[in-house]
Amino acid sequence: MTEFNSKKNKKPPFDKIKWLSICPFCNTKFNINQAKVIAEKKDSFLVHAHCKKCRCSVLASLVNNRMGISSIGLVIDLTYEDVLKFKNARQISIDDTLEAYQDLYK
Ligand SMILES: [Zn+2]
Repeated sequence: MTEFNSKKNKKPPFDKIKWLSICPFCNTKFNINQAKVIAEKKDSFLVHAHCKKCRCSVLASLVNNRMGISSIGLVIDLTYEDVLKFKNARQISIDDTLEAYQDLYK
């Protein structure tokens, strides 16, 4: 694993995380300089990367700890703006789901 010091690097070390630099669907190399940090807390980053070829996106959590950098990613179809819009939205409850179902099938 690679270590980084967030005090030295203001941006997450995208170049050190190979899976984040290649689109998981079409294998096109991301322009990682266009990846955007959605949230940052201490040595943790929530990052959005977008593939211009197939238009899929990856939302990744990068955490620096004593063991190095750990990361986990999720393929999404949300744009960066969508993620910003929904990141602090209220969670959908089971009651919300049932209410929507009942409204649809009245
Ligand atoms: Zn792609």
